[in-house]
Amino acid sequence: MARKIGSRYTANQILGRGSAGTVWLGEGPEGPVAIKLLREDLACDQELVGRFVQERTALLGLEHRNVVGVRDLVVDGNDLALVMDLVRGTDLRTRLERERRLAPEAAVAIAADVADALAAAHAAGVVHRDVKPENVLLDMQGPLGPGGAHPALLTDFGVAKLIDSPRRPRATKIIGTPDYLAPEIVEGLPPRAAVDIYALATVLYEMLAGFTPFGGGHPGAVLRRHVTETVVPLPGIPEELWQLIVQCLAKGPASRLRASELGARLREQLPSLAGIPALEVDEPESEPAEEARQAPEGAAAQVRQPVVRRGAVSLVPGAAPDSNRDTHTSMRVPEADELAGGARGTARVPRASGAPRPGSARHRTAAGRRRVFLGVGAALLAAAAAATYVATSGGADTPPSHSSTSPAAP
Ligand code: ADP
Ligand code: MG
Repeated sequence: MARKIGSRYTANQILGRGSAGTVWLGEGPEGPVAIKLLREDLACDQELVGRFVQERTALLGLEHRNVVGVRDLVVDGNDLALVMDLVRGTDLRTRLERERRLAPEAAVAIAADVADALAAAHAAGVVHRDVKPENVLLDMQGPLGPGGAHPALLTDFGVAKLIDSPRRPRATKIIGTPDYLAPEIVEGLPPRAAVDIYALATVLYEMLAGFTPFGGGHPGAVLRRHVTETVVPLPGIPEELWQLIVQCLAKGPASRLRASELGARLREQLPSLAGIPALEVDEPESEPAEEARQAPEGAAAQVRQPVVRRGAVSLVPGAAPDSNRDTHTSMRVPEADELAGGARGTARVPRASGAPRPGSARHRTAAGRRRVFLGVGAALLAAAAAATYVATSGGADTPPSHSSTSPAAP
């Protein structure tokens, strides 16, 4: 059934549901649009409505071929809606779920489009803060690019910032999806443009590998890996491409490329990637169960923990993971001991397809490492809370006023 949104728009049909609300196929004075109708509890929040209106100019000003444009913001009675360009296609998460890994040329073409979108945003002083496959829409009606990739458009600019506020009581329980969080966010620093570069490099790695470099297992472990672990090379990846990824996954934000340069460097590589098939990489296993670690080598290799999928992960042990692909996941912040000991946690080592499990010695040292991490568990707990805060407030130009009280990195 159709419903009116403000005086100019009609919402006709549900296109999808997200964490912030429902997206409708709608009609406006200039033709079809996508209308994101924010959840009722968000729309009832007076402070949020105020900020929504304040953000209007920044959100409406971003015009770029790789940005899903926001056409209008509607505040009407209980309705709070973002009117966007309609993208006819799918999102990158859906494509990855279907194909798992993309050929390097297609992956790089998509990443280059997103880098261009970020370059435009960063030039306008806007940090996205939630770059992930769910927020990359693939325009199936657009022209086919390198590797048969459809144009990629980045969406949800400013939405993370809009819907989360440190003053909202729920905000203390909200944290961004941990797989794409830059280490400086985990350390409590305000999100600057470089956090988007780190997240995009993570997405590029994921398109090539089929999994994120630091994801898997307990969210506390994921946060810790962002800060402490080094990314492990993907078997068979062209060296130049690998160097770009490594540079953009640098722990120090200043070492990462800027978006415009990343876009250009990715495009430069496209010709040499033509025709290369998707990499053959086996999904790394999560750390083996305790019994497996104590069993003889051969047995350990047999016993495998089910791989915990990236994305929305429940922080409450035993709770069902969030099934929807939320922008923000309502999660309890983990206790210090959960962050320290409950974490399944070394970096996941990608293996060439069929190769034996590497580094069993590494697993034997894991317990020792956990003891070391116990000491920093409390700091990480605080850092996680800080990440919650920075992931839910402030922007490039408005560092949170209490950032100076954030804990230092371990
Ligand atoms: P949220 O970010 O609030 O979780 P999404 O932006 O992911 O929600 O929207 C949910 C779904 O709506 C998406 O998976 C997609 O299918 C659809 N959608 C969102 N924006 C658009 C758009 N501009 N054009 C077409 N479909 C869209
Ligand atoms: Mg989204």
